[in-house]
Amino acid sequence: MTKLVALPAFTDNYIWMLHDGQRAVVVDPGDAAPVQAALDAQGLELAAILVTHHHPDHVGGVDALRPRLKGAVYGPAKEAIPAPFVPLAGGARVEVLGLSFEVFDVPGHTAGHIAYVQRGVERDALLFCGDTLFSAGCGRLFEGTPAQMAASLAALAALPGDTRVCCTHEYTLSNLRFAAAVEPANADIAAHTAACRARREAGTPTLPSTIAQELRINPFLRCGVPAVVAAARAEGAANDDAVAVLAALREWKNRFR
Ligand code: ZN
Ligand code: FE
Repeated sequence: MTKLVALPAFTDNYIWMLHDGQRAVVVDPGDAAPVQAALDAQGLELAAILVTHHHPDHVGGVDALRPRLKGAVYGPAKEAIPAPFVPLAGGARVEVLGLSFEVFDVPGHTAGHIAYVQRGVERDALLFCGDTLFSAGCGRLFEGTPAQMAASLAALAALPGDTRVCCTHEYTLSNLRFAAAVEPANADIAAHTAACRARREAGTPTLPSTIAQELRINPFLRCGVPAVVAAARAEGAANDDAVAVLAALREWKNRFR
């Protein structure tokens, strides 16, 4: 039975680790120290490293972990991540720990960003989406266009509702504050805010979320909902098109305090 663990790193990152009690795979190790500590604490062998995109808070620990890595580093073919690594693009599969991870191209935050989906046999599917989809939000458009991000988010939104969303940052409460500004009448946003506040006060992550939950609360997955369209139009969206709505939401969020 595989266990999923969120290792806190820096101020608000999570390095996701899957392990079977003997071997582990980690996603986006921006820092080696929390990974080393978790491997040592449980006597785990590091079987693979999966990388979603090239930002330092996602790859900074890769080289320091290499000496104890028994398998490969996998990463986006279109991005410069610490070499050597196995280059992946959408449609590829990675087999590790007896699990199969399917690769999705999700450009927007960065130009070559990929996501990994592990469809469970005896458990819900897992999505490792880096900085593309956050709970109640999405990544900033550093290298991609609103149209690319809209297509990437649409692909993730089409995953089964019980897919667990393992994103890389604990941004949920601040994202929910923005989501409530977009949709003040959305009761799911209010309920989830209360639940996440309790989790943070107890010192536990608000993640993973699920696709079904995100479809209820995440404005960036709700660009066709009339209340979201109206709010985006009031903030400058050129028309009702989902891409225009997403572009306006993203710019609004960038200046939202
Ligand atoms: Zn990033
Ligand atoms: Fe990041």
